[in-house]
Amino acid sequence: MLPSGHEELQKNGYARMASIEDDLIEEDTSLQQARASYSVDDAVDYMLKYTSNASSCNICGKGKCSNKVDTTKYNSAYTHYISVGKHVDCANYVSQALYEGGISTDDTWKAGSSAWIGVSALTKYMTDNKYWTSLSYSSVKKGDIVSYTSYSHVVMITSYDGTTHKYSGHSNDRKNTVININTNTASNYKFYRVS
Ligand SMILES: [Zn+2]
Repeated sequence: MLPSGHEELQKNGYARMASIEDDLIEEDTSLQQARASYSVDDAVDYMLKYTSNASSCNICGKGKCSNKVDTTKYNSAYTHYISVGKHVDCANYVSQALYEGGISTDDTWKAGSSAWIGVSALTKYMTDNKYWTSLSYSSVKKGDIVSYTSYSHVVMITSYDGTTHKYSGHSNDRKNTVININTNTASNYKFYRVS
């Protein structure tokens, strides 16, 4: 076999480089599409759909539990984390809404995984992967995530009219309930925007 001529080698080299470049561009574009396709409205609609303003706990029974939970309103397609003595469905519910909004699952963040059901693991995953960006209390609006600093809890802002913030979440179950976010209460929370 005769060695390829200079021109042919160059042509093959360019073709290979172009193909590698295409792969890189494709990867970058799919990442951007994943981000660009996130829908705050879809996530918020989900947060409003599978919760309620429960007045007692339907699992433990009225008077036996101080949690306000009604699992009959939950999306039965998902496992919930409400049982006697255990009422920890907040991150599970927010994860479902984030997924509904358009964030793709992976081996770390998928239904039932610790990053899906645990507040700190979810926060770490979402911030490490740049899905969540921290923000100041003064810019919080619909679709933003609120996590509590003094205990493990996470909810989503499901309404903001420029004055009043309302949130929705699980255990305690809340549907568009007023939350006071201002300079006096800001230190009780951390705020994140899905970006
Ligand atoms: Zn209970």
